[in-house]
Amino acid sequence: MRLLNARTLIAALLAAGPATAELSLSQLSDAVYVLQGGGGNVGVCVGSDGILLVDAKLASQADAVLAALARFAGRPKYIFNTHFHADHTGGNRALGQHATILAHANVRKRLATGGEFGKRFIEAAPAVALPVIAFEQSASAFFNGEEIRAVHFPHGHTDGDIAVFFVNAQIAHLGDLFFNGLFPFVDLEYGGDVETLTQHIATLIDQLPADAKIIPGHGPVATLDDLKTYHRMLVETTASVRTRRSAGMSLEQISAEGLGSQWASWEWSFVPAQRWIETVYWSLEEGEKGSD
Ligand SMILES: [Zn+2]
Repeated sequence: MRLLNARTLIAALLAAGPATAELSLSQLSDAVYVLQGGGGNVGVCVGSDGILLVDAKLASQADAVLAALARFAGRPKYIFNTHFHADHTGGNRALGQHATILAHANVRKRLATGGEFGKRFIEAAPAVALPVIAFEQSASAFFNGEEIRAVHFPHGHTDGDIAVFFVNAQIAHLGDLFFNGLFPFVDLEYGGDVETLTQHIATLIDQLPADAKIIPGHGPVATLDDLKTYHRMLVETTASVRTRRSAGMSLEQISAEGLGSQWASWEWSFVPAQRWIETVYWSLEEGEKGSD
């Protein structure tokens, strides 16, 4: 039941939006832009050294990504992947021939070997699409006069997520650690955990400057206040499911009651409230198993 739901969700995510839709490029600082539309949000750093991307959207969007970048000279030289999901790494195939791809070691492993037996199917990527630089904790690229620093946040959204900081510009790309104004997809099958994710968001709130611009994996560009609201949603909805679960209510009973109207606007086609309740419920269940 749970696996089936996760598979359905991933299929829906991959079909997300018209892949050929025009993408919109917005400038956030002298050198940093965000490319939105369809798959995950892409961070773009442009300057005299060339183009560096954070994420690469779906494979089917590669031409649209290049069209959106056509106003700048050259093709992307570096790509950081924030995690392995296809709406963030699919473009590696087309862009990887000319770009050096960097990611956490678990992202390279997942893309190289595909899914694990008994879990949701993940297609292995061709060699050209694989990260050639893989790291465990953090890595920095010094490019266009900027330090672009990637830091691993384990077992939050997957087991291989990084946040990427444009240090001078005070801009952060949080990948799918952050869905702005939307219930998040947390990949429990491949290393995600709702409570750890919530702790990571608290850490990021403490670390980011008050006027930071924040690129989420999905949703509009955010402020620190938006990230705090997301954190409050995680804390309060998790507490709500935990309390009822501890009182002996079944998943079906909790789902039937729902989360109340406060978070209604956070529902979206891929993660309606029911799916978010299920995610929290199973994450709490697995957390308990892990602590036995
Ligand atoms: Zn995503």
